[in-house]
Amino acid sequence: MAKRQVTYGKCFFCGKAFAKNAITRHLGKCLARQEVIARESGKPAQLFHLLVEGRHETGYWMHIELPASRTLADLDNFLRAIWLECCGHLSAFTIGNTRFEMDTGMVDAMWKDFFGPSQPVKSMQTKLYSALAVGDSFLHEYDFGTTTELKLKVVGEREGVPSPKGVRVLARNYAPVYPCVKCGKPATQFYVYEYPLDGYCQEHAEQHASWEEGFLPIVNSPRTGECAYAGPYDKTLAFEETYTGN
Ligand SMILES: [Zn+2]
Ligand SMILES: [Zn+2]
Ligand SMILES: [Zn+2]
Repeated sequence: MAKRQVTYGKCFFCGKAFAKNAITRHLGKCLARQEVIARESGKPAQLFHLLVEGRHETGYWMHIELPASRTLADLDNFLRAIWLECCGHLSAFTIGNTRFEMDTGMVDAMWKDFFGPSQPVKSMQTKLYSALAVGDSFLHEYDFGTTTELKLKVVGEREGVPSPKGVRVLARNYAPVYPCVKCGKPATQFYVYEYPLDGYCQEHAEQHASWEEGFLPIVNSPRTGECAYAGPYDKTLAFEETYTGN
């Protein structure tokens, strides 16, 4: 799984492909986006522009925009919906030296005993603007067993009308293509009993002795192949287009 390769993603305003390191600049001057912004009507609010990426699997990334008055819990919900949720695991943000967790009483208390009171802990009900400013980087962890770690950065802010959905996806990486270990065709399934994960095309996955329980579908998410992750439960958040060149 080539991690240092240049990855490309799609601007959801003009539909064009850009390299990961060029798309922040592009979003600042995309004409199609400026037209969308010019047509907006409604009550303006402070909006944060975030870059979210896999902390280790950096080929998975997205640019999103949401009101700074939203809470970290809202952001957590969105990250679960688009990239993470498999079986309702715990999650936490780390901003500076502070951990932000859901108020889930006993379960969280158990983890605190485990790790000791090393960090101040606050509630995820904290509003984004009171915990973050432009330029800040922070972390998100989902599932403290088979953890998926995300790195987030506030790359910008503006006054604007929030998307009716709350969070707007501005751009996102194209789905990486993994070859089938048997035939080299694009894989659709990961064999999950060995690490690193091997990709299989549908035909070869179904011929495998462990087809019934040893495979997970390949999805465009840094959680692909982990635990029971099988893609976003909100199918409107699925994005499986692959890069075909400019
Ligand atoms: Zn664009
Ligand atoms: Zn799970
Ligand atoms: Zn195959």
